[in-house]
Amino acid sequence: MYHKNLPRRAGLTLKFEDGLDNLPRDYYSTKKLIEDLGLPVEKIDACKNGCMLYWKNAVDLEYCKFCEDARYKLTQERDSRHKKSPYAVLNYLPLTPRLHRLYASRATAEHMTWHATY
Ligand SMILES: [Zn+2]
Repeated sequence: MYHKNLPRRAGLTLKFEDGLDNLPRDYYSTKKLIEDLGLPVEKIDACKNGCMLYWKNAVDLEYCKFCEDARYKLTQERDSRHKKSPYAVLNYLPLTPRLHRLYASRATAEHMTWHATY
């Protein structure tokens, strides 16, 4: 549910007349800001050659089923709890929460209607 003060609570107080001083200072701050706005990002491992995603039925595969390249980088196995690092990751931005957000505001909902109604 959209909250009218959510952008301010998330630190989004950017006004164009203020210049660029209020922009997030780095990638981490930008990522944190988007998370606080309630727009989820899903990370899905991918083949480094772009053949496939390790998703749904393929989530447990260790090698690409097309080019047979490894999913994870080779690391020194010092600790069995060490997290594996994939060669490539897809950042998936689910559409439904973004559409909900666009229709939650009257100002943006007007722009989401079919153009023939105008
Ligand atoms: Zn592949």
